[in-house]
Amino acid sequence: MPYFDSHCHLPDTKPFTDVFARAKSVGIVGCVINSVRENDWQQIIDIASNNENVVGAIGIHPWYADSVSSNWLANMQSILSHHQNIILGEVGLDKTHDNFATQERVFIQSLEMAIKYNRVLNLHCVHAWDRVLNILKSYKNKLPKIVAHGFDGTTNAIGFDENLYFSCGPNISKPNYNKIKITIGELPKNKILLESDSSNLLPILTAAAGLKSLRPEITDADIYNNTMGVFFNGQITQD
Ligand SMILES: [Zn+2]
Repeated sequence: MPYFDSHCHLPDTKPFTDVFARAKSVGIVGCVINSVRENDWQQIIDIASNNENVVGAIGIHPWYADSVSSNWLANMQSILSHHQNIILGEVGLDKTHDNFATQERVFIQSLEMAIKYNRVLNLHCVHAWDRVLNILKSYKNKLPKIVAHGFDGTTNAIGFDENLYFSCGPNISKPNYNKIKITIGELPKNKILLESDSSNLLPILTAAAGLKSLRPEITDADIYNNTMGVFFNGQITQD
């Protein structure tokens, strides 16, 4: 069964096509490639339109919330209205950075775009689950599919909303990540995705091995089917 990376990033130096070719040679057939700044958006759109099974995500990473231009929201809206397959990401809140008020404004406006255009949202949430869940609560019953990337073991988000999914990265294989290891048992099987959170996709294999050791009853096919359900409305694509 192939792997599909639900959260990766632009390569620093190599062309994306080289990175993707290498990934395909080990069974990683597709990915969601995320922006962190407005400057990335056009490159992400081009990569997604030139590579089958690559989903492009535009957004402002919370670390860069202060860097937005005055017309970022209009630009985002224009892209979403012209590109049916572009989703939102990565966006969210991160309490380890002190621009929190700006982060909240950018996140809420991005979430409203995801709702308006019914696009999946790739969520970054670090030490901010209480605030994120509070915000999501005010949009209850309107939420699009949301993928909480880099599952950190927070249990109060599990089961919060039918449209909330959890993507596990290579951290779940690390020996000292005990909180994740304990709480990963509570994730419903149909809400789990896997990711590399890298610019070369290959660490998704480490994440898959970690999940296998913690939840041996979950197959690669289960994860692949979850992923297709989230990003392609259940339609299975094969390369
Ligand atoms: Zn990321």
